[in-house]
Amino acid sequence: MRVVVASGKGGTGKTLVAANLAAVVSGSREVVLVDCDVEEPNLHLFFPSETKTLPVLADVPVFDQLRCDHCGECARTCQYGAIVVLPQKNLFFPEMCHGCGGCEITCPQGAISMRKREVGRVEFSRPRCHLTLISGVLNEREVAAPRVIREALLYAGGHPLVICDAPPGTACPLVETLEGADYCVLVTEPTPFGLHDLSLAAGVADVLGVPAGVVINRSMGEDGMVREFCRSKNIPVLWTIPFDRRIAELANDGKLLADGVPGIRELFLGLFAKVSGRGEPGA
Ligand code: SF4
Ligand code: SF4
Repeated sequence: MRVVVASGKGGTGKTLVAANLAAVVSGSREVVLVDCDVEEPNLHLFFPSETKTLPVLADVPVFDQLRCDHCGECARTCQYGAIVVLPQKNLFFPEMCHGCGGCEITCPQGAISMRKREVGRVEFSRPRCHLTLISGVLNEREVAAPRVIREALLYAGGHPLVICDAPPGTACPLVETLEGADYCVLVTEPTPFGLHDLSLAAGVADVLGVPAGVVINRSMGEDGMVREFCRSKNIPVLWTIPFDRRIAELANDGKLLADGVPGIRELFLGLFAKVSGRGEPGA
């Protein structure tokens, strides 16, 4: 089973939920936790441990200037603006290239070939007895986040229980993380901005056919808008986490809640039971 913890925006507590869910569940079974927030991975802050690293390579074009007649076809093909063809030479911007290979296919002169370039890395650690952490890390100024996420998920493939911390937002990196998942936990705040971003993320899960449930974080009892939205979309509210100063302090210190908030371990186990049962309504 692959569970993705997502939110339409950053700062909702998504990583906090993913880290604590994995930590608590790994008390009784094997869990692989994958940090797919590759532009700002920070799950390792909750699980400091020795890591092993493998590079993530992407294809980039190399131009044979002797064959090139500067027809401009490669620049027209590239949807990402990574190539500019001038009368005497071609300019290539590797940080904008997504490695699709389209330019190589369409070049009429056979002047383009692909070579490998390092765009990021995947880090592996074993911070607890039944917990493996796999973190995707995108190199600075690179745009190939989906490539790094794909690689991190590949290493997690085949494990019975995988929990992913999704990237914020609703663009390609979220789609890459969510595609093929069994369940999506959407973490939101009960504010108009939170609701707006929740509706976008719920829409992505819906389009991808991934069942979803909502965790309302930092609730001060005024969750009506979020609950109404969930009712209208037939999305279960799995759990409501009240605003609690201790939770905020532990999270800021990169500490797990189960180590400092009495009774919260059972609540995370309850969340996992609902997710495993595909999200019964409640809480
Ligand atoms: S498509 Fe090929 S021949 Fe045309 S400008 Fe690009 S590299 Fe040169
Ligand atoms: S490989 Fe794709 S993204 Fe990269 S330059 Fe060629 S067409 Fe553009």
